[in-house]
Amino acid sequence: MAACCDGCGQGGFALHKISLGRDFFGAPYDRLTPASDKSPAWYCPGCSVAKGMQVDCRAISAALIAGEGGEKTPLDDAAERHRAEARLGEIQAQIAADGGGRLLDGEWVDSLRKALEALPV
Ligand SMILES: [Zn+2]
Repeated sequence: MAACCDGCGQGGFALHKISLGRDFFGAPYDRLTPASDKSPAWYCPGCSVAKGMQVDCRAISAALIAGEGGEKTPLDDAAERHRAEARLGEIQAQIAADGGGRLLDGEWVDSLRKALEALPV
């Protein structure tokens, strides 16, 4: 087991391995499966929360990019789009409160939110 958090690099915490089971859009996401987890990462409690947010941002970002390429994505659904907007708002509030640490990039999250709001209805 890692001695330091992979998010902030600090030790001395009870570290958690992230496993969300499902990603933001319900696709399987399982970092605990050894075969599919080539680089397991361990996080302290604060970074676990940030990491979960980062994973959601990546899922939303991937859907936005797929949509730009003309693919169908979960964001074609208005309810999913509202849920994604709400989640990004929550993440922006977290970044405003604590800076987001090393795992969350405020400009990236802002750009995702703008791209989401710019989607044709
Ligand atoms: Zn940490």
